[in-house]
Amino acid sequence: MPLEMREICEKCETALGHDDEACICSYECTFCVPCSVDMNQICPNCSGELVARPKRRADVATA
Ligand SMILES: [Zn+2]
Ligand SMILES: [Zn+2]
Repeated sequence: MPLEMREICEKCETALGHDDEACICSYECTFCVPCSVDMNQICPNCSGELVARPKRRADVATA
């Protein structure tokens, strides 16, 4: 199964486009920036650190 970028915040379900800022943990739980800040950059699912999600780069397509 290919990795898939989630497109909504797991907390508030805000839509997160590929070009929008978002934060992910190492297990790819995905949250919007305001929720991440609210949670002190800690994933509530796995207690991992939330980091800024890299924006999609056309030159590094993972197909
Ligand atoms: Zn959110
Ligand atoms: Zn997580």
